[in-house]
Amino acid sequence: MKIEKIAIVTGGARGIGKAIVYELAKNENIKIVLNYNHSEENAIEIKKELGNKIEIFKADVSKREEVKKLVNYTLEKFGKIDILINNAGISQEKMFTDITDEDWNNMLQVNLTSVFYTIQEVLPNMIHNKLGCIINISSIWGITGASCEVHYSVAKAGIDGLTKSLAKELGPSNIRVNSVAPGIIMTDMNKNLSNEEIKSITDEIPLGCVGKSEDIAKCVLWLIEDNYTTGQVISPNGGWLI
Ligand code: NAP
Repeated sequence: MKIEKIAIVTGGARGIGKAIVYELAKNENIKIVLNYNHSEENAIEIKKELGNKIEIFKADVSKREEVKKLVNYTLEKFGKIDILINNAGISQEKMFTDITDEDWNNMLQVNLTSVFYTIQEVLPNMIHNKLGCIINISSIWGITGASCEVHYSVAKAGIDGLTKSLAKELGPSNIRVNSVAPGIIMTDMNKNLSNEEIKSITDEIPLGCVGKSEDIAKCVLWLIEDNYTTGQVISPNGGWLI
């Protein structure tokens, strides 16, 4: 019998996070704590479908105290955390000159500082167990930079820097840290794109299509099952960036 693994997925009630939850739930040895913030109805619906494969927990991951509660809940329920998927994120399109202090701080707080919080809170348990897999969802924009999304790109590039640095620091504790940096994936985050915009993006992608949340979820599952990959930024993007 295989040992059960416990995973936290932040922002797991919608979009890419939801697909990750369903992909992990297919594995009989993984139990999941689905974190959500606003999407309570979705989270309850998913819990109904997946039953005792998952627990759901509301927390705004941009707040240290709420992250502590999420981690404490998981530890009280399951006694350990093996896998942390930092998926929660927000985006915003603005000219650099229009970005306010509030926009800037909020973008970094939700997308990057949340990752600092979640990892710091799970680490004592992972280090104690000498076992862990941390996957941070960054973005192709963190690698290439995106016009009119400078603060988003900075936050995602920051995640990749954190991934590489921590992978070095935590390797000796048998904790792997990787980033998954998606290209364009059709979720609510891209609901403002017009059909023409999607067509012109698709024309630039060698595989000829934008991605699905499930494509990212499969990459995440592969990283979980792998043993020897750490400190990497893996970008499922249809060949958009080669
Ligand atoms: P989405 O459909 O807009 O979903 C965003 C998710 O983040 C929701 O589940 C939301 O939870 C959660 N979230 C946001 N702020 C939160 C907070 N403060 N605390 C807890 N959860 C929070 O976007 P998505 O496309 O699935 O994006 C998921 C991740 O992939 C993000 O990190 C995004 O930057 C990254 N990404 C997406 C794309 C893309 O093309 N879609 C490309 C590259 C990278 P609630 O609804 O419960 O509030």
